[in-house]
Amino acid sequence: MKNSLVKTMKSENALDKEGIDPELFDFAARFLQFHGAALEKEEADIEALIPDHLRALLNVPEHIRISGDSTGEEENANQYMLTYGAPILEQMIATAMQSIPLLGCRLEFDYVKNGGFQRLMDEQLTLYKAVASVESAADVKTEYAILTCRYIAQSDEQKEGLLSVAFNMETGAFVPAMVEQLDNCTGRIVFKNPEKIEPCSLSSIESNIEKNTRKLLEERLEPFRHSMNRRFKRDIKNMAEYYKSLETEMRNSLNNPVLSENGRADRQAKIDALPAELASKIDDLFKKYSIKIRLKPNAIMRIQTPAKKIVSKLSVGRWSRQFFLTYNPVTRAIDPPACHQCDKPITHIHFNADLEPVCFDCR
Ligand SMILES: [Zn+2]
Repeated sequence: MKNSLVKTMKSENALDKEGIDPELFDFAARFLQFHGAALEKEEADIEALIPDHLRALLNVPEHIRISGDSTGEEENANQYMLTYGAPILEQMIATAMQSIPLLGCRLEFDYVKNGGFQRLMDEQLTLYKAVASVESAADVKTEYAILTCRYIAQSDEQKEGLLSVAFNMETGAFVPAMVEQLDNCTGRIVFKNPEKIEPCSLSSIESNIEKNTRKLLEERLEPFRHSMNRRFKRDIKNMAEYYKSLETEMRNSLNNPVLSENGRADRQAKIDALPAELASKIDDLFKKYSIKIRLKPNAIMRIQTPAKKIVSKLSVGRWSRQFFLTYNPVTRAIDPPACHQCDKPITHIHFNADLEPVCFDCR
């Protein structure tokens, strides 16, 4: 917190002094590097050797100097100013926005649990009409993806936020609590340029996003929903009271001796129409306070980590097969297997006729 405050203050100073926004400068440097340019950074300048594909994209020569300082050698054809609206910056932003940003890191652990998996499995998983006994645990490298999604909940007010969820890349299964544990895990995080994620493994994750984030999102939006509900009820109460007093007033006016026969009939019709009018107003309120939620993936972090592949012998009645599980050193738990039918992570496991794990609902 303190650090980021210092950084902000420093940034503002830098902006005043050099006339360059350090965030823009950093963004440009990272963008160029990510796309294979060789950089030399000086105080307020970036000197870059641009590879062919990037030259065409940004419409620049091979060797450029990017600067935010307008007092520099502006007349130089290789000199580019980094200010908002500058074509080179606009093109970088447009390119960066074309795909969901993909980050990558590797986790390094001094120690990964090496035994006691049977006990862990017995503690964590409940198997129905089946027994699994651990046969071995092998060192493996496995991959997780953390998806950060932006959600917008729209009602009478709007609420936005970010929600991060972790998936096992191998199985596509949602891994509960992994995002929360990542900050506290004993491993070192080494950032590196990620390899591309194959579209097929991404699509299996994407189909899981909605299902698995729904519950998390509901928890996150609970206070918002509560507040909208409270206002909805308050408005309904006020509206009902208003209509009640309106009706009383109109009924009293029926007794007015100067009212003509037509006028009385007209007023009575209006009184008769009040309940329908109130119902329609309540319907409007319901629309006003109902919550629409949109969720969109914003960034993906690909994490490579050592893990343990647990091999167990599964016996269901007189049938048996090998049953594989993954020990996750970040959560220090076994990743709950995904239901073969609905992909939900399950800790209470039933098995279907093919001896695949399924949840209670899909069994
Ligand atoms: Zn299921």
